[in-house]
Amino acid sequence: MSFQKIIGHNSAKKILLGAFEHNRVAGTYLFSGPEGVGKRRVALSLAQLLNCENRTSDPLDACGECRPCKKIREGVHPDVFTVSPEKAVLKIEQIRQVLDVMALQPYEARHRVAIIDYADTMNDSAANAFLKTLEEPPANSHIILISSRPSALLPTILSRCQAVTFQPLSLPEVKEVLATEGTDPEQLDFLAALSEGRPGRALSLVGGEEEQNRREALSILGMVPWENTASVSAYAEVLAKEPVESVVSVLRWLHSFLRDLAVFEASGDNSLTTNTDLWYDIERFGDRFRGIYVLACLGMVHETLEGLRRNANRQLALEALFIKMSEPAHNPV
Ligand SMILES: [Zn+2]
Repeated sequence: MSFQKIIGHNSAKKILLGAFEHNRVAGTYLFSGPEGVGKRRVALSLAQLLNCENRTSDPLDACGECRPCKKIREGVHPDVFTVSPEKAVLKIEQIRQVLDVMALQPYEARHRVAIIDYADTMNDSAANAFLKTLEEPPANSHIILISSRPSALLPTILSRCQAVTFQPLSLPEVKEVLATEGTDPEQLDFLAALSEGRPGRALSLVGGEEEQNRREALSILGMVPWENTASVSAYAEVLAKEPVESVVSVLRWLHSFLRDLAVFEASGDNSLTTNTDLWYDIERFGDRFRGIYVLACLGMVHETLEGLRRNANRQLALEALFIKMSEPAHNPV
């Protein structure tokens, strides 16, 4: 996707296009900003700009259609690659592989680009192995670290990167992104409103129904504690309108996530958790859901599920659950 086709992120685009124009594209960048906002797309656009065989000059951009542009878009370019955490951790072996590749000449590109996704999940040994290369990447090689929690990165990493910050998109911008992705026009308003400026979040909600329920449960972890009963009621009302099977499914997922947090707290071992594919997202709430509070929450969700089985009023049952989860007596925050 060329820069012109990226909606929003004007300041990031300006910084990167300006750097390219003046032949000053940094060796190491840190793209930081909320999850799902569009950081990876911009990273791939920069890789295209660097390697395009048919660049336009006014406006400056990659063509999006030449061989390197297509390969990068399809994720099959040998010199433009993304590294993601395995089981929520970027391990030293993964970073070593990146370093081995970086030590070689690019296969076919002018510029090699390594995108390190969820860079904040690097453990200390991985981060330390990376320091020297981050300081001085080989000529014509670029490393882009991507993170929604840059504060979790070591200061020695941060000081070696040129920072580019991404902000949430405006509501009209999110709608535009969703429309270009072929989202059902009837769902645009609803999804954009739920997205918090992050089109990636909105798009994740239009997957299968079960996946939606799961995402909904994840978002509940982020909503607790609710600030006031009015917002609890408003949310409970929306959720209660769903069929009872969906509500039960959301609560089951919520129970499963809480269980994973309790297991991880007790064991320190995320291989014992169930939701490994989402562990990175779940583990963010580990500081809040811990100790007797997380155990109390598990009991409350279980009780609510029992109540729904006995045909309890959905809205009242959900309201009661969310209010209890938000009570200071239970909640250490
Ligand atoms: Zn091109």
